[in-house]
Amino acid sequence: MDKRWPFFTVDVELTNICEQNCRFCPREKLTRPSGFIDTQLLHSIMRQLAEIGSRVTFCGMGNPLLHPQWAEICTICHASGVKYGLTIQAPALIEANISKICELRPAFIEVSFPSIDSGHFARIYPGENLASSLNSLNRLVAARGSARGIIITAVRTTDDPTEPAETLAFWQQKGLLVRIQQCHSRGGNLHGQTTTEARRITSCGLFATHSFITWQGLLLACCHDLAGATAVADLRQLSLDQAAAAKIEILQKPMPWPICANCDEPAAIRPLPDRPFPATEKARSRYLKRLCASDQS
Ligand code: SF4
Repeated sequence: MDKRWPFFTVDVELTNICEQNCRFCPREKLTRPSGFIDTQLLHSIMRQLAEIGSRVTFCGMGNPLLHPQWAEICTICHASGVKYGLTIQAPALIEANISKICELRPAFIEVSFPSIDSGHFARIYPGENLASSLNSLNRLVAARGSARGIIITAVRTTDDPTEPAETLAFWQQKGLLVRIQQCHSRGGNLHGQTTTEARRITSCGLFATHSFITWQGLLLACCHDLAGATAVADLRQLSLDQAAAAKIEILQKPMPWPICANCDEPAAIRPLPDRPFPATEKARSRYLKRLCASDQS
């Protein structure tokens, strides 16, 4: 397998600190240390990812906008040549954060907006309100000048009273792209709201095409590992090339971690890459769309 595949898409955790209190987040089980990525380390990682042509999303277990060296983060990203974006929960779209997003100038913003039902929205985000989050979203669109690059992620929990077709029509009528995702247990760490079935994964398609890097620079099997027990490589010591070789080696055998024995992550059953690494940005976007479509089917 081409060594670029494991870094086809990458989630970089600028921080695992968060001020939200989302009901579908298992962060109370997070036992990894808390902190913010070192900017020198981010610079080194982004430089290597630029050589691969990776698509980077700033997400993980925290709110990336809380990083205290935001201006420096923006400078690193602007100079990197990497296609990057971020994930944010709808209630975190306060004015100050919209300004930070504009300063970052991300190619894409995934806004987690799990429900368009006001009662359900308030259950998922205690103390928050659907109408005010919709207003904030409008302000984000206005601040960016258009809805281009904004993707709504509607994570579907068991008790959402809204039908998926209704959710799709709601966002499409607003001119926004939407992805409906099933709520899974995030490595067995979340219960009661999941809509997916656990199964044993032998070769993980997500692991093969996607990487998760913690704020400390650890390459974990995936973001569902809240204890940091599946470290594949420490990127403070190893290059991405060495880390990719380690991932490809792991894929030669069944997944070695207990967390994979009961995985209900829909993307884990993606097919392993069966083709050369796409040479252009356009071809990579096309292939990513196919992968995302297969995750939802
Ligand atoms: S099988 Fe599941 S838990 Fe294991 S690496 Fe893949 S997504 Fe993560």
